[in-house]
Order: sequence, then C-alpha cells, then structure tokens
Amino acid sequence: MGLLEDLQNRSGNTCELCGSTENLQVYEVPPVSTGGMDGSLLGCSLCIGQIENPDTTDANHWRCMNDSMWSEHDAVKVVAWRMLNRLKSEGWPQDLLDMMYLEDETLEWAKATGEGEEESEKIIHRDVNGNILENGDSVVLVKDLKVKGSSMVAKQGTAVRRISLDHENAEYIEGKVDGQQIVIITKYVKKI
Ligand SMILES: [Zn+2]
Repeated sequence: MGLLEDLQNRSGNTCELCGSTENLQVYEVPPVSTGGMDGSLLGCSLCIGQIENPDTTDANHWRCMNDSMWSEHDAVKVVAWRMLNRLKSEGWPQDLLDMMYLEDETLEWAKATGEGEEESEKIIHRDVNGNILENGDSVVLVKDLKVKGSSMVAKQGTAVRRISLDHENAEYIEGKVDGQQIVIITKYVKKI
C-alpha cells in the first residue's frame, strides 16, 4: 500500500485537521525529512492551501483545531501547533495553545519552520556594520573597552573567538578576552 492509502486508513478518509471528506491529499509536514506515515497527514485542499499560503488563512476555519489538536499523531499535532501560533493574536488560539502539550522532540519539530515567531520578537545581534552575529562567530573589538568589575581593558583590535549571544538582549554578546569571559556590547565589535 502507498502512503495515501495508509493515511486514508488511519484517518477514515477524512481531513485529519478539519474532518472534511473533500479533496483529500497527502501533506508532508515540513521539514519533510521525517516523511512517511509519521511525518505526514491526510488534509483537504482548503486546509493545505491555507497552511501553505499564510495570506489566505481564515481564522474561523481553524476552530477545528479544538478537536484535532488532541490527535494521537504527531504530524497532526505539529500542524495544529503551527496554525494556532500563526493565529494566536485572535485570542482563542492562544487559549488552545495553553492547553496543548507536546513532547520536547515534537515541539522542536513544530518550531522548525519558524512559525509563531514574529519578526519583531526575534532577537538579532548585529555588529558595528550591521552584519548579523551568530553563536560561534569571531569578532574583533573596534575600540578599547573597559571590562566592568575589573581593571582590565580589552584593547581595540583584540580578536574574540567563539562568541555566544545573549538571548534576551540584542546588544550583548559574551566572549573570552585574556582567558576571561566578558560581556561585550555588539556595537563595539566587527565580525571577522
Ligand atoms: Zn481540512
């Protein structure tokens, strides 16, 4: 049997999201590396169309999450979580999200597409030139910096390797200078 037949059997030939019996197709939940039965669901064209085109999302259609978020299948739960996150500003989806429970591994999968993260909420660290900094990058100091709480001065031109980002503040990174872990302000570094 193929994947479609397997999913038809699993779902009783209904959309696993909204229960519709029309225009059913296989939806491989991205990232599709999971694939197969566990990584896919049977969805109707209305659900899948809205998942794939956020602009066409009709919040009321997704009230069906009330039921499908309790599915025993991770692929269904992951999509429910993503759609509820997409719609959480409506209020009721946030209430459902609060009730939802995903195993760590499943939650990681749900978050893999970045759904639910608003651009404004993402903390992005940038160096003096506006280049994006990431954990593990190396930077060089563009001015002498007094190290807080010590008499040490980190000299301009000092390279700091394998920085780590402060996840709560876009202005701070941490790195080792002369063997000492210090906090550095992003506008005083340049990525190398
Ligand atoms: Zn559907």
